[in-house]
Amino acid sequence: MRKELVVATKNAKKLTEIRQLLKGLNFKITSLADYPDAPRIIENGETFKENAVKKALTISRYTHKLTLGEDSGLCVDALGGKPGIYSSRFAGKHKSDLQNNRKLLAMLSPFKGLQRKAGYVCAVALADGKGFLKVFEGRCSGYIGHKFKGRYGFGYDPLFIIPRYQKTFAQLGPSVKHRISHRFRALKKARHALVTYLRKNP
Ligand code: IMP
Repeated sequence: MRKELVVATKNAKKLTEIRQLLKGLNFKITSLADYPDAPRIIENGETFKENAVKKALTISRYTHKLTLGEDSGLCVDALGGKPGIYSSRFAGKHKSDLQNNRKLLAMLSPFKGLQRKAGYVCAVALADGKGFLKVFEGRCSGYIGHKFKGRYGFGYDPLFIIPRYQKTFAQLGPSVKHRISHRFRALKKARHALVTYLRKNP
């Protein structure tokens, strides 16, 4: 039987990306949708890494399964790194991606060209509730456009332009995003740890 890896997220789009990026590993990937009574994760860390560790520890202690906690967000230079760890609730609790994006565009309206530099950050933590704990980080740089462009991805992807392509992640789609994204970079490191974990805990 394949070993289970619980991804501690309720975000369906994030889960899809994580599944695609971990393709080929011999795990049965589940998520919080499979554990409806799991405890609520209090995301009160001060860094992406702290929040990723919280997610992995809370859920692995509850499920007793190897768990992947992921925390990610967008950091904009001109806004002193905001929205950062508050990316999903930038426009307020329970606000949509569209509302977050509109708020970002409004706050960046005085800024032009290179002043709109930004980066995505992704922290991935692995924990099994029995003492195994590892954390990895990946980053991806770009800048914020003036208009929504493209239909792929989620979150800030319709505004996040990759300089090399002069296109947003939402225009480039998964075939490019999954080769250069912050999530790809963090999961590439986590993949090695997962392979080693499987070998030691068959
Ligand atoms: P979390 O679920 O608390 O980690 O919040 C992640 C938030 O960061 C998402 O809701 C998006 O707003 C933003 N974000 C993280 N990764 C991406 C990405 O790959 N594309 C677009 N937005 C992202």
